[in-house]
Amino acid sequence: MATRTLRDEVVSLLQGLIRIDTVNPPGNETRAAEHLRAYLEPFGVDCELYARVPERANLVARIRGTGDGPRLLFLSHTDTVLADPAEWTVDPWSGELRDGQVWGRGALDMKGQVAASAVAIASLAREGFRPRGDLIFAATADEEVGDDPDYGLSWLCREHPDAVRAEFAINEGAGDRVEVGGRAYYLCATAEKMSSPFVLRVHGRSGHASLPSIADNALVKAAAYVEEIAALEPEPQLIPEVEAFLAAIGAPVSRAEDALGAARAVDPAAATMIDALLSATFSPTMIMASHKRNVIPALTEVTVDCRLLPGQTQAEAERLLRSAFGEGDYEIVWREGQGGTRSAMQTPLWEAAESFIAEVEPGARVAPICVAGFTDSHWLREFGTVAYGFFPVKMDPDLAARLVHSADERADVDDLELGVRWLRHAALAIGGQS
Ligand SMILES: [Zn+2]
Repeated sequence: MATRTLRDEVVSLLQGLIRIDTVNPPGNETRAAEHLRAYLEPFGVDCELYARVPERANLVARIRGTGDGPRLLFLSHTDTVLADPAEWTVDPWSGELRDGQVWGRGALDMKGQVAASAVAIASLAREGFRPRGDLIFAATADEEVGDDPDYGLSWLCREHPDAVRAEFAINEGAGDRVEVGGRAYYLCATAEKMSSPFVLRVHGRSGHASLPSIADNALVKAAAYVEEIAALEPEPQLIPEVEAFLAAIGAPVSRAEDALGAARAVDPAAATMIDALLSATFSPTMIMASHKRNVIPALTEVTVDCRLLPGQTQAEAERLLRSAFGEGDYEIVWREGQGGTRSAMQTPLWEAAESFIAEVEPGARVAPICVAGFTDSHWLREFGTVAYGFFPVKMDPDLAARLVHSADERADVDDLELGVRWLRHAALAIGGQS
């Protein structure tokens, strides 16, 4: 053990976690939480399991601080999406080490970061690190589903808020190394769009399908609205994260209308990165009409995946929809929104990210980004935590995006080691020991 490097340690911990099947549903994350506790406790890290039901535990581990500084939380989730072994080159639960990569479901999303967080806190504990504020590691259940009833961070924040309360948190969401205009940037997610789906209910009058003229076909009417949704062109808005991102890549703008052009002038890839961050987006994805071929539907329901900018409201989006649709026999029924939160960009945690990247890749910079999806960070931001999605990864971002939630998911060992170094760096910077 004594001669083992942090690199070996994070690889073997990740392999162990991959070999514990935590596909959600059903999750069964308790075995992963116990595996982590068994690894952490011998190094003097306090561990507590919090579970709504016995088989779905969340682990919260901590090094207690002296109490006069900010707390830092490493947040990650132990559940994964499913995997179909028939699509994989290796057994998805093998954790096989092959060509410098650890293979298996969850390697990128996000058992790799779970393992790196655990190794970071364990190594600091055995070195005698005593932070000013608590250093906390939460490996939570139920991120991939998170429905009602919930078992993961949302439940933890509701039932045991003091266990995870922290001034700063590092979560998933970004950290990827991208090349823009010939320079390298590590993206740090400081904000997230809000997932705010709605159902468009279009009404008509039913009738026999053989006599269409005496009915009023709600499906045909809905088709026109679907076309309107596809043609929507919301007025662009310049959110602070996009403004700061463009400034970081050398394309400063002050007007939203100039953002895409300025980004494209630096690199078309930059334009792709901000395209969905300039307005709300609307993607119709599901439709429900008649249940019988020969019955004209009186009701058609179109489900629309809508993503709002942080701070944007459903009322604002609804005004846009109604002005495109005009008068008609329809309703817009909003489902509960999730996410849509942001953290400040000028913080000690940001400075820690910058000083880390300056150390490991002097030519690169950190650039803020708002992510189009959402993570568990919003549960923390809702009680004031500065939460960033930042786990630096050098793997080609296009490859990583293809592997997450897909076959042959794997993490580079170099990235796992880089992750451990980053988390240790952040803990030392925020913990302010020296
Ligand atoms: Zn994830």
